[in-house]
Amino acid sequence: MAIDYGDFDRGQGVDYWATDPALRREVRRTIPDEDFEWARGRLAAFGEVVGTTVDENADLIDRNDPTLSTYDRDGELVNEVEYHPAQFENERLTYEAGAVADSFRAPPGREEPLPLTHDLAFGYLLGAVDVGLGCPVAMTAGAALVLEQFGREEYAEFFEGLTARDYDDVIQGAMFLTEKQGGSDVGKTETRAEHVEGNTYELHGEKWFCSNLDAGCVLTLARRPDAPDGTGGLSLFLVPRTKDDGVPASEASGGSSAERRESGGERNDYYFRRLKDKLGTRSVPTGEVEFRGTEAYLVGDPEEGFWYMAEMLNMERLHNAMASAGVIGRAALESKIHAADREAFGGPLDEKPLMRRDLVEMTVAHEAATAFTFDAARAFDRYHRGDDEAAYRLMRILVPVAKYRTARMAVDAASYAMEILGGNGYVRDWVTHRLLRDAQVLPIWEGASNVLSLDVLRAMAGEAAHEPLLARVRVYLDEAADVDPLADPLATCRKELTGLEDALATLATSDRAYAELQAKEVADYVFDVYTAALLLAEAARDVADGDGRKALVARWWIDEHLHEYEARGVPADRRLPHEHFDAVARHATVDPATLDGGE
Ligand SMILES: Cc1cc2nc3c(=O)[nH]c(=O)nc-3n(C[C@H](O)[C@H](O)[C@H](O)COP(=O)(O)OP(=O)(O)OC[C@H]3O[C@@H](n4cnc5c(N)ncnc54)[C@H](O)[C@@H]3O)c2cc1C
Repeated sequence: MAIDYGDFDRGQGVDYWATDPALRREVRRTIPDEDFEWARGRLAAFGEVVGTTVDENADLIDRNDPTLSTYDRDGELVNEVEYHPAQFENERLTYEAGAVADSFRAPPGREEPLPLTHDLAFGYLLGAVDVGLGCPVAMTAGAALVLEQFGREEYAEFFEGLTARDYDDVIQGAMFLTEKQGGSDVGKTETRAEHVEGNTYELHGEKWFCSNLDAGCVLTLARRPDAPDGTGGLSLFLVPRTKDDGVPASEASGGSSAERRESGGERNDYYFRRLKDKLGTRSVPTGEVEFRGTEAYLVGDPEEGFWYMAEMLNMERLHNAMASAGVIGRAALESKIHAADREAFGGPLDEKPLMRRDLVEMTVAHEAATAFTFDAARAFDRYHRGDDEAAYRLMRILVPVAKYRTARMAVDAASYAMEILGGNGYVRDWVTHRLLRDAQVLPIWEGASNVLSLDVLRAMAGEAAHEPLLARVRVYLDEAADVDPLADPLATCRKELTGLEDALATLATSDRAYAELQAKEVADYVFDVYTAALLLAEAARDVADGDGRKALVARWWIDEHLHEYEARGVPADRRLPHEHFDAVARHATVDPATLDGGE
């Protein structure tokens, strides 16, 4: 049934599960049948709470953001971050809803943890309301993923804390990589690690951007004496908030989320120099940290540190893409509500042809970003949890492409939603103010656009990641063969698949400088073609079930991103956004028999 956006005043107080068919579709496709009903219940409950309490709290925290208390009145070092109580409520609601925990430990009454995609779906929902809160939750999951693989026995107390269900037991994660002289270029890391005994080291150095800096379980990179330069000489360390005094981490002062902020136990020797005064994501404190003989524990093989961290980074990048898709969905929701409610020039804005085009484009962008990101997440999950080595190569290319492109799309969508709300959208009383400020970080942290595009080149050169990618596109296109309403867009997509193959073949024989020059072009090309194929396959399944709506979404994506028109398409009589507005933007079903074959 079509959604009537005129029923809402704004995007707050809305159930984010119930109003998001794109999310529901992907979760249905992603979670195995035996887990689906259970996962659906968890996510639906969280979708409701996110759209109400969490979003209201996020507004409050944005105006009352964390502050750093460095010294007390006697000049004694305090070194603590102080939070508005709404922050604790949001964290409690999130962790106790099952974010992180459900995907790492079998939930009560179940035998196995849920797929990682379940945790990522929580990240999507958080993205729609508070990108800042999504950051520590993502890092807690990322740290859990690393310890699950490389330190589950040795650092069991930390793993238990990172994956705890009860908020009072939660130890949050963080990732301190960036130093002043090197963010993208992590090989320039200067932090030194000196051996103390066993797996215990002391760290000396400084980290320049540290989000969630008072977390109980920080993962960081440092160089041991005589280790080679570059990333190969980096080891991974776990930095606890309090020193090891024989007390289990989850009971130690500073161990749990709630306690860490009011504790007076013996703190580990690191110093919060200052918090960054950021444009957005005000709810997560990001600061500069000095390690001053800080106690740290080696994780795994000392020569594999960078590789371990790459595992965490992939998880963070996927969370980033999920958050981006959530932002685009929120931007579309706010825009549709405003356009339904606002009258201008004699009628509602959403009856104006040009506004209809805007809203259809936002809807299609949202579904494209969501479909691509969940597909990347499925590959990531198959690699980690399934027995599927081929999935590693696929996720190696899908993850950087997803992170790069969806982040840019999120900034565009948040910016355009602000414009659709008119002058109000620019004012802090409306959520678009925060949405745009928050979205702007998505292309920067976890790797900026250029860096990710260069990573795509690396994945192709090192792992031939384009091979499983192209194979996957062909599988999706075959699904859409012989489906009447898809005939023309399918032909366009097949042609562009050949174009993509040519582009990749050119890069394979180019000199390095030329390949770098074209890296972003290629990342975009991959995203456009892969997304087209995904949407066509989804459309084919829906047509078989009697609904042609997705065929319209696929058509418009391909029309806008792959089809080459003369005279910019103006003479081509392209009326889809106006004629099929209810179907695409309001999610009404369409009888496939009423659609012709084409663009
Ligand atoms: C709010 C916020 C929170 C953050 N939190 C954390 C955190 O918790 N932990 C952490 O470790 N870091 C964190 N960061 C740091 C962030 O990950 C880095 O800022 C980011 O990776 C970029 O690194 P940089 O700032 O050193 O920029 P640089 O590496 O100097 O890059 C600058 C620009 O140059 C481009 N560039 C780099 N190399 C190339 C190349 N070879 N070819 C072409 N272009 C290139 C980049 O794409 C970028 O646009 C945070 C940043 C922000 C803004």
